[in-house]
Amino acid sequence: MRFLFFLIFIFSFSLCWAQKDCECIVWEYFQKRDLPYLEMGVKDYQLENFRTQYNWPIAPVDKPSPLGHICHSYQNYGGQPYFHHGIDIRRAAHSDIFASTGGKVVNIENYVPGNDLYWEIAILDENGFLWQYHHVDRKTIPQEIFQAHKTGVFIASGTLLGRVVYWPAKAYGMNFHHIHVNVLDGNGNYINPLRFLVAPFDLTPPVIKEIFFLRNEGNTTISSQTLSGDIDIVVQAEDLMDKEPYQLTIYKLEYEVRSAQGKIHLPRTALWQFDSLPKGNDIHEHVHTIYKSSFRDGGKQRRTSGNYHQREFYFVLTNREAQQINPQGAWKTKSTNAKGKSIFPNGDYTITVYATDFNGNSSSKSVSVKVQN
Ligand SMILES: [Zn+2]
Repeated sequence: MRFLFFLIFIFSFSLCWAQKDCECIVWEYFQKRDLPYLEMGVKDYQLENFRTQYNWPIAPVDKPSPLGHICHSYQNYGGQPYFHHGIDIRRAAHSDIFASTGGKVVNIENYVPGNDLYWEIAILDENGFLWQYHHVDRKTIPQEIFQAHKTGVFIASGTLLGRVVYWPAKAYGMNFHHIHVNVLDGNGNYINPLRFLVAPFDLTPPVIKEIFFLRNEGNTTISSQTLSGDIDIVVQAEDLMDKEPYQLTIYKLEYEVRSAQGKIHLPRTALWQFDSLPKGNDIHEHVHTIYKSSFRDGGKQRRTSGNYHQREFYFVLTNREAQQINPQGAWKTKSTNAKGKSIFPNGDYTITVYATDFNGNSSSKSVSVKVQN
């Protein structure tokens, strides 16, 4: 019996280790990568002008595929946490991968040298956006793609790029076979790939689980409903897509402060709308401005997590001030207007939180608090 436990222990340990390796290497590598062909990419543009609806890279290509992660998913595999920065399109191992856009094949690379899980094909599309397709099975990349890379000839959208590699790590009891697609502009900024693809099919709104109040930058929840000074509003929320088991994070979170009588004292203020990352080309910066790393809630330690086994997200809604992401941001209950009058005079208020997913499905939750300065 004891031997059996020992075997189970060794097995789980090695499994964890293998899984840890899978994504850890990815973030370490991203810091070092130099992408000289980005010079040819688009640098000055309005994202709103690109209302494209490209096909998805895996059949049926005119329909959206299931998603395992989105571009702002929180990722922490034991190294430095990061935004996932692309989408994980989940399909069976060995599925064909087709180019969503036409363009120039600018890179074919084993970007984690020696590890066959990490082959990339990169295509610079006609508009100057770089599409990186990761986890292509090297053995299945057609000769024409290598040829196109050598000669610089354009390939058409829908061209076969290869097949999805067999992914050894499991998430939620299933092998996490997927391709990871990044879209970058000419400045190296990561753009939400969903902006360019046929819209995902999803009618399930996000779920706002709980709303917490902490002192600004504090690590413990305030137990009473009476607040004063600078307050962080922290929200636990997640989003599921129709029929999918993977918790995704929220495309847009906002909060609003009204008096008990319904008068708006602070209009809907968004933390961030994830069409791009808060620091553009840096996948690490502001991860823990958006997501609260951990805090104490009564007897419970709450922690943002995102790995193969667990996903739990706590957002600091108040880390947005004057159109900027600000790690020190807070709901400043003592603030005054230009005339020196208190914006939040002592009294009762309703805080409403709104969560919206990429498809525009939305939900809200309100709590009542008292301001007493
Ligand atoms: Zn990925």
